[in-house]
Amino acid sequence: MDRVDIVVIGAGIVGLALAEKLSRLFGDVIIVEKEKTFGQHASSRNSEVIHSGIYYKKNSLKARFCVKGNKNLYTFLKRHDIPHKRCGKLVVAEKPDQKSSLEILLQNGLTNGVKDLEILSSSKVHRMEPLFKASAALWVPSTGILDSHRVMKTLALLAEKNGAVISYNSKVESIQQETDGYILSFRNTDYRISAPIVVNSAGLWSDRVCAMTGMDPAAFRYTLHWNKGDYYRTSRYRNIERLIYPLPDAESGYLGIHTLTNLNGELCFGPNIYHVDRIDYKMDDTYHREFFDSIRSYLDIGYADIWPDKSGIRSALQEVGEPERDFVISNEKEKGHPGFINLIGIDSPGLTCCLPIADYVASLLDYSG
Ligand SMILES: Cc1cc2nc3c(=O)[nH]c(=O)nc-3n(C[C@H](O)[C@H](O)[C@H](O)COP(=O)(O)OP(=O)(O)OC[C@H]3O[C@@H](n4cnc5c(N)ncnc54)[C@H](O)[C@@H]3O)c2cc1C
Repeated sequence: MDRVDIVVIGAGIVGLALAEKLSRLFGDVIIVEKEKTFGQHASSRNSEVIHSGIYYKKNSLKARFCVKGNKNLYTFLKRHDIPHKRCGKLVVAEKPDQKSSLEILLQNGLTNGVKDLEILSSSKVHRMEPLFKASAALWVPSTGILDSHRVMKTLALLAEKNGAVISYNSKVESIQQETDGYILSFRNTDYRISAPIVVNSAGLWSDRVCAMTGMDPAAFRYTLHWNKGDYYRTSRYRNIERLIYPLPDAESGYLGIHTLTNLNGELCFGPNIYHVDRIDYKMDDTYHREFFDSIRSYLDIGYADIWPDKSGIRSALQEVGEPERDFVISNEKEKGHPGFINLIGIDSPGLTCCLPIADYVASLLDYSG
């Protein structure tokens, strides 16, 4: 059995950011991933948006990490020459009586420290994006898009350069607590690893990985809901400059079906939101009408102009329609599991927050670095 300083479970974008950060501070860091390569789940099945931080509750981890993560990520992307675009986004009010909702969003963004927000009149929005119908919009210039695969590849390379080991096809199946840490066992092998510190960054399965230690996720409100989102694509329009979002749902915070442009100038719409019991990314045409009705309220589009593209599944602490919960990032010392760090409910804006999440986890650990 090998003994290391830290095991990180899960090589999504957050696990990789953790491995990169922790391998600079600790000796032996190993990241174990059940798939044959990194980022096969949420980290490669999302909108690839660098969020600004306008939506989240004051002082929440999501608000703090998103504003910091936005800044840090642009620096990281420039330093490592990773394709991205600071395109900005418009949150659009369709009707004049929705303007007060834009004001509330603007105030929330300012409170969270988001810079350069501005409410634009219908004519200004029309000048910026002539294809879109709006009575007013909130302009958010710090929003952007990135190549998430390249971010993950860079983090993996940097972690390995620092001496971290990434072990693929390594599905953690049991975790045994010992006096000096934890012993991890894996599927289809007798190989075991022991470590005083284990970071659970298992995304959609992080509540199940937490349960392997003997902790009851339900008792701590750690139970995850799998909330799927589909994306539709169009070739009718290309090269729309900015991202276009509707107003978020006032109750749940759900961002709504938005218009995304990728780094190649292609346009897609999504994601919607619905509960699933299985991790299955296949998608059909079930929600075509929902997408069409939503998109045509602000953009001239035909039913046949859009078609199913891809899907992703959020690991959410709330059910569809319930108010959004904050990330859980906790050293479980108080629960009798010192050195076991749970990251649970790392849904959006987890991609934007990956670097500050890694800094925060490092701050929860004792190290002599
Ligand atoms: C539809 C959608 C749209 C989104 N859009 C955005 C956006 O535009 N901007 C933004 O900032 N965020 C967005 N997000 C959120 C963002 O994608 C996630 O927060 C982020 O990818 C989470 O990364 P992660 O590393 O925690 O999880 P994951 O990428 O899911 O990685 C977890 C890893 O753990 C591995 N694992 C699980 N169990 C085990 C085990 N037992 N043993 C070993 N390995 C295991 C999995 O295989 C997986 O690779 C979106 C998410 C979704 C689903």
